[in-house]
Amino acid sequence: MNYQIDDKGYYGIFGGAFIPEMMFHNINELQKNYLGIIESESFRKEFRQLLEDYAGRPSPLYYSDRLSEHYSAHIYLKREDLNHTGSHKINNTIGQILLAKRIGKTRIIAETGAGQHGVATATVCARAGLECVVYMGAVDVARQSPNVEKMKMLGAEVRPVESGSKTLKDATNEAIRDWINNPVDTHYIIGSVVGPHPYPDMVARFQSVISEEIRQQLKVKTGREIPDYVIACVGGGSNAAGAFYHFLNEPQVQLIAVEAAGKGVDSGESAATTQLGRPGVLHGSRSLLMQTADGQVIEPYSISAGLDYPGIGPMHANLFVTQRARFLSATDEQALKAALYLSQKEGIIPALESAHALAALEMITFKPDDIVVVNVSGRGDKDMDAYLKYFQSQK
Ligand SMILES: *Cc1c(COP(=O)(O)O)cnc(C)c1O
Repeated sequence: MNYQIDDKGYYGIFGGAFIPEMMFHNINELQKNYLGIIESESFRKEFRQLLEDYAGRPSPLYYSDRLSEHYSAHIYLKREDLNHTGSHKINNTIGQILLAKRIGKTRIIAETGAGQHGVATATVCARAGLECVVYMGAVDVARQSPNVEKMKMLGAEVRPVESGSKTLKDATNEAIRDWINNPVDTHYIIGSVVGPHPYPDMVARFQSVISEEIRQQLKVKTGREIPDYVIACVGGGSNAAGAFYHFLNEPQVQLIAVEAAGKGVDSGESAATTQLGRPGVLHGSRSLLMQTADGQVIEPYSISAGLDYPGIGPMHANLFVTQRARFLSATDEQALKAALYLSQKEGIIPALESAHALAALEMITFKPDDIVVVNVSGRGDKDMDAYLKYFQSQK
């Protein structure tokens, strides 16, 4: 079984490039050139160097004594929260800006939900001296104002999107519209393993540095490269894709993907795509998608803006239907609890997204010798408002 992309851009029955005519030139250009560029010696060298000196990689693999004791297993935390700009998103934006320069683009657009991808994109654009426009749902602009201010300070233009539910899905629609209107000079930096081929594969490759490092770091710390579990949250799926990548063909590694159940999978306010979704096309690829009987996208809900998306990437849809990965979901409440627990036991305030992955530790029965890696995709600074509200309600 191969869980990687095939030569037509599909993971099993998922993936492909379902795009309007006007996007064909740009997508075709990327499809033809991306592998040649990103696998070239000069690209790899520059990418590696920036990951090290600019983003601060390798991110530590931290053995958590206290979680290990509590869950009766060996729990390691992959500290993507310590990267420059506070999450794994910088791995992808560094890769894509280097690619954009090599194909001669001078203007960058991006979509963002929580603002983490917007900040990571504005950051690499500042460094590269490229114009940057970030589309962000008006609801997210209001609930993530520190990230909006950061993007502006970095020199990006933030365009609030007033259509639909005014969140990530709508921001993505606007970014696609911009690209169609500006096909020559613009590159669209998509923030997750979604979108038309080759984006899911390209973003997964840039994020795969996460599992490459986990293997090396586990080898040094435990003598074996292969853990028993890798756990990651899934919005579009890029941090999970990166954490799973070099373990996909190691069947002894249990891959655990954690979606946002919101107020409960059956509450009508959820973003648990694999539990609620059916095959469909969104934002240029065929995947699993939350939709009504007649194919209208259902508005998702999660307390975490980064997981508030009605689809998942095609790699994950395939991992779900082939049962290579196990999909769990955590509610807002379970995530908040897990975030508080990690903060008070380890002194690490995780992003609300990452807290969903941590919540899965409660749902699995481990054996005492199990080696478990949880990907802490980001830090919690941006989520302090939500955390404060929760703690006040607990008093
Ligand atoms: C954006 C984000 C996510 C969700 O995106 P994926 O593509 O599923 O990784 C998760 N965690 C953090 C910290 C994020 O910023």
